[in-house]
Amino acid sequence: MKRLILLFLAGTSLALARQTAPQLPAPPLSTLPDGFSAPSGYGDSIYPLLGDAGLDVTHYDLSLRSDPRQDVISGRAVLSITALRELNQISLDFAGPKVLGVKLGGRAAQHAQVGEKLLILPPTPVTAGTAFTLTVAYSGTPALQYDSSTGGGLRLGWITQAGGSYVLSEPDGAHTFFPCNDVPADGASFSLHLDVPAGYTTVASGVQTRQVTAAGRTRTDFELAQPIPTYALTVHVGRLKLETQAGPAGIQIRNAFPVNLPDDVKATFAQTPAMIGFLAEWFGPYPYPVYGVAVSADPQIPALETATLSTFPARPEQPTTALHELAHQWFGNSLRLGDWSDIWLNEGFATYAELLWAQSQGQSAAPLLERWYARLARVPARGLPATQSLQLFDSSSYFRGALALHALRLNVGDGRFRRILADYVGRFAGRSVRTADFLGVAQQIGGQTALDAMRPWLVGPQLPPFPKGFFTQAVR
Ligand SMILES: [Zn+2]
Repeated sequence: MKRLILLFLAGTSLALARQTAPQLPAPPLSTLPDGFSAPSGYGDSIYPLLGDAGLDVTHYDLSLRSDPRQDVISGRAVLSITALRELNQISLDFAGPKVLGVKLGGRAAQHAQVGEKLLILPPTPVTAGTAFTLTVAYSGTPALQYDSSTGGGLRLGWITQAGGSYVLSEPDGAHTFFPCNDVPADGASFSLHLDVPAGYTTVASGVQTRQVTAAGRTRTDFELAQPIPTYALTVHVGRLKLETQAGPAGIQIRNAFPVNLPDDVKATFAQTPAMIGFLAEWFGPYPYPVYGVAVSADPQIPALETATLSTFPARPEQPTTALHELAHQWFGNSLRLGDWSDIWLNEGFATYAELLWAQSQGQSAAPLLERWYARLARVPARGLPATQSLQLFDSSSYFRGALALHALRLNVGDGRFRRILADYVGRFAGRSVRTADFLGVAQQIGGQTALDAMRPWLVGPQLPPFPKGFFTQAVR
C-alpha cells in the first residue's frame, strides 16, 4: 500500500472528512443465540478476534451478482476448508449482507450472524484433518467498514460509488462482502464468477477464463490458482477500457482504465513490463501468470497492491508508486504475513524495491535514504514489530523497514544481499512468513554480523544513527 502518499497530499483532509461516517454498531457477542459459543479468533497480535485458528481455507469459489448503480450484491460463496482441530462450531468473519442459507457438505446447517462473525453449527463435530465444503448464500448491502489502521478515515471492502464498484480491503475489509477466514496467514486460491449488467466491464484478481453475455447480463469468470491473503482480492466493475501490454516471460498484462482517463494517469504504468523484468532479477520469477492495474474513478483512494491487479486512484502518480505496488506481489501477496505485527516484511521490502529501481535507472540512492531518515526523525521512534493497528502503515513500517534492509546490505555486500532476498522469496513463495523467517535466511547467508547490523533497526525503540558511510558509500 502506498497510503503515506495519500496522507501527504493537500486534498487529503477533505477526502478523509468525506469518507468518515459513523460505523454501524455490531451486535455484541454476548447476545449469542442458544447452542452457539463465543468464537476464539485466530490469535493475530493486532487483530486477535479475526479468523479462526481451527480452519485452513484452501479455496474460495465466489459467485457475486451486482449492479454498480445500486449498492446491493447477491453472493454464493463455496469455501473448501480443512479442519485443523476438532470443530464443534465453525466461525467465519462476515460483516456482510444477510445470510440466506448455509450448507455444510451439501446439507443445510444451523447458523447465526453475530457481530462480524458467521457462526455455523455442524450436526456432529468435524474431526481434525477433515476436508469439507461450506456454502453460504447471501444478499443485501455490503457492510460499512472503516479502516482502524488510519483511525477510520478510509472505507474498506466492496465499495459502490459514481457508477462503479471496486474492492479495497487491506487490512480487514474482505469480510464485508464474502465470508472468510480473514487473516493473511490463511491464504487461499480463488474462483470468481461475476455477474453484472451488460455494458459494464468486470476485471478482477486472476486470469479471465470465460465471459458470456445473455439476457442483459454479462458473467465473467476468473481463476487465481496461487494462494493470496483475503485482503488482496480485488474486483472492479465499471465503464472500463481494458488495455494490454506485452509482458516479459509470457506474463499477460492487462490494465483497466475508466473511459476518458487522462493520458498522464496512464503514463504512470508505462514501464510495467520493464519493472516486472527488473524485480524478477532481484526476487525471482513474478509469482502469477497475469498482472496489471485497475484505476478507480476515485482520485482520493490510496494505491493498493491488490493481487495480480494493483488498484490505483484516478490521479497521476510517480512511477515509483507503480513499482512499489508491483513489488508487493512478491512481498505481501505471494509471501504473506503470518501476523499483522510483521507488516514491515511487506512495506519495508516494497519501499526498498523503490531504491533498487532508482539505482537501476542511474540515480543515486542518497536522496531516498536521506528522505526516509528525515521522515523517521520527525515521528516517535519504534522498533519494527507493530503493536497496534495505527502503526501498520506508519513511517516506521515503510522507512525503518527499508533502512533495516539497507543496513543489512551494507554489512553483507551486494552479492550476498541478492542471495538473501532471492533465497527468502524462493523458500517462502506462496507461504506465510514471520520476521524470524527472514532473519534465519539473513543469518544463514550473511552470518551473525548480518543480524547484528539489523538489530538496532529491528528492536528499537530509538532511531539508530546512520552507520559511518551510510550515505556516502557508493552503493551499486
Ligand atoms: Zn506498500
